[in-house]
Amino acid sequence: MECPYCKKEMIKGYLYGERHALKWLPADKKLYAGIYAFGAISLKSDSFWARQRVKSFRCSDCNKLIIDINDTK
Ligand SMILES: [Zn+2]
Repeated sequence: MECPYCKKEMIKGYLYGERHALKWLPADKKLYAGIYAFGAISLKSDSFWARQRVKSFRCSDCNKLIIDINDTK
């Protein structure tokens, strides 16, 4: 994948979570009770047993990540 900022080739990799999937919330939404991310987009694997991950591409020049939320393979 080509970096949309500098046009250099990006490095394919995976963004791993720990036991639970990472969540994405818009900046104007707050965590409920400081813990629960209701309505968030989960960045997770299809398998319950696998460590949670999503495919991502990193630009080593810009230090940007692009995440494909629907592609964990
Ligand atoms: Zn770049």
